[in-house]
Amino acid sequence: MYTGQAMSCIFCKIAAGEIPSTAVYQDELAYAFADINPKAPIHVLIVPREHIVSLSDAAQDHRALLGHLLWTAAEIARKKGLDKGYRVVLNNGELGGQTVDHLHLHLLGEQQMTWPPG
Ligand code: 5GP
Ligand code: ZN
Repeated sequence: MYTGQAMSCIFCKIAAGEIPSTAVYQDELAYAFADINPKAPIHVLIVPREHIVSLSDAAQDHRALLGHLLWTAAEIARKKGLDKGYRVVLNNGELGGQTVDHLHLHLLGEQQMTWPPG
């Protein structure tokens, strides 16, 4: 269940199962699902169940949760056999290219990634 601004948040609704998604991983802290508009053969979004708007909004108390999200990305990559590499992206705020205001990691894999990003 959720309250406040989270009531209108699409990723809160996805994590709560109120909007359908293709689940990839879930536990008590995190939910991971396939991106609806994939930018790579594997494109998974990893979100905290708690509504945190962005990395900039994460508080000191969220440090362990932030670490858990990164571990979750690595765990999904292991389970998907991405042993040759993958990319984890976190877009933060307007100039960072964030379009959904609920903190999320992108896990991208199964293609050669290039650098720098745009
Ligand atoms: P951002 O641009 O905020 O870093 O990433 C937002 C991501 O969420 C985008 O890659 C977009 O395709 C994905 N997305 C937006 N709405 C939905 C949705 O309703 N379902 C799923 N599965 N992905 C979504
Ligand atoms: Zn949310």
